[in-house]
Amino acid sequence: MKIVGRVMLMTSAFLILMTPVKTAAQQVQYDVVLASGRVMDPESNLDAVRYVGIRDGKIAAISTQPLKGRTVIDVKGLVIAPGFIDLHSHGQDDENYRYKARDGVTTALEMEVGVSPVASWYAEREGKALINFGATVSHIQAKMTVMKDTGTFLPRDNAINRVSTPAEVSQVTALINQGLDEGALGIGFGINYVPTTTRAEVFDLFALSAKRGVANYVHMRNAGAVEPASGVGSLQEVLADAAATGASLHVVHITSMCLRQTITCLAMIEGARSHGLDVTTEAYPYTATQTRLESAIYDEGWQEKFGITYKDLQWVTTGERLTAETFARYRKEGGSVIGHAIPEEISRLAVADPRVMVASDGLIEKGKGHPRGTGTFARVLGLYVREQKAVSLMDAIRKMSLMPAQRLEKVVPSMRMKGRVKVGTDADLTIFDPATVIDRATFEQPALYSEGIRHVLVGGVFVVRDEKIVEGVKPGKAIRRTTR
Ligand SMILES: [Zn+2]
Repeated sequence: MKIVGRVMLMTSAFLILMTPVKTAAQQVQYDVVLASGRVMDPESNLDAVRYVGIRDGKIAAISTQPLKGRTVIDVKGLVIAPGFIDLHSHGQDDENYRYKARDGVTTALEMEVGVSPVASWYAEREGKALINFGATVSHIQAKMTVMKDTGTFLPRDNAINRVSTPAEVSQVTALINQGLDEGALGIGFGINYVPTTTRAEVFDLFALSAKRGVANYVHMRNAGAVEPASGVGSLQEVLADAAATGASLHVVHITSMCLRQTITCLAMIEGARSHGLDVTTEAYPYTATQTRLESAIYDEGWQEKFGITYKDLQWVTTGERLTAETFARYRKEGGSVIGHAIPEEISRLAVADPRVMVASDGLIEKGKGHPRGTGTFARVLGLYVREQKAVSLMDAIRKMSLMPAQRLEKVVPSMRMKGRVKVGTDADLTIFDPATVIDRATFEQPALYSEGIRHVLVGGVFVVRDEKIVEGVKPGKAIRRTTR
């Protein structure tokens, strides 16, 4: 009898020992559980299959063991990445937020052109946005206001045709200070669009940005290789201003500014960084630009600058290629034009470079525009990572999430909660199929959703589920500086 008792005791002890002890994480009920996905965190380089538990909009657990949740989604074979952060999204309305979400973007920021006034821009979107949003204060639009330019988004007359008076310069500076007081993320410049802006004006505003502790997001003064008005020369201007003021600098769309001299421009930026300047840059993965035909970009000399001619220009509204005659007519009318000016090898070079962030420069208007507005992020993952193996999956994810977050987090500490897949960070997540993800948008048909971006969450709320927009949800939050 004693022996039987001992055997039973040992058996139950053995059974208890063999029963795996549930961890604290496993005993909690989460709002959402993403089960058995390949978690890729570009900050820690974690790249492993895990269960991700989400609660109250945050990542609450990352476990090797199954987790309990009100909603449990099997994401086996899919990648769980930080939500993509687009520093260069002109599209800031519901139409564009949908395309962005379907391209894996959880935060879309208007950092280049910027906005002015700032407070009303944020108020218009509060509680009404599908994804997170934010903007810099706009030097261009402050100038358009002060000089009474008749352009809508970009200037077309008064802000272009003459140099500002000292009184106008100080009015513009006042509007920029007001925008920063209202929480703008930095100062946005498009010097190419307001070419009569003097170098002294730019220098003074860089000094202001350094004093206010914000960065400058700059479309430089000139593009192309024709000296002295070249991309390289324009980069020298803003690097010198950053060096002389200590201001932080982000150079937008480096490939469309430096074209065949992109290698030189990247070497200049690397050199400046190695000597202590805070300089970053970005590119979109396409071989064509887009802008307004009536803008200063297409002033006389554009063919030499860009090394292209009329047939390389495509009218956005009709998709037609231009001639000398239609160029003149449409320039008078005004409208968007695509310029097939960036060599493929230059585009690939920038996408492959781990120092260059991915940013779309996207803007879709009633289904018309450049495919970069709808397909940029899926294109990097499908064409450049999977098909061309030009960049690793982790580097690509880093260029589309962690690096943009780091660009902003000194100015907006809440960005430390984005661009990562870590316990405690915001549940802004993009879940995609690395075997099928691809852009579908083309220059002829730009308004096509990307494929393979399976689910997207903003603050733990699904905005895309099974490759469909979730209707009726507006979890997007303002990304904004807090001002005393
Ligand atoms: Zn630009």
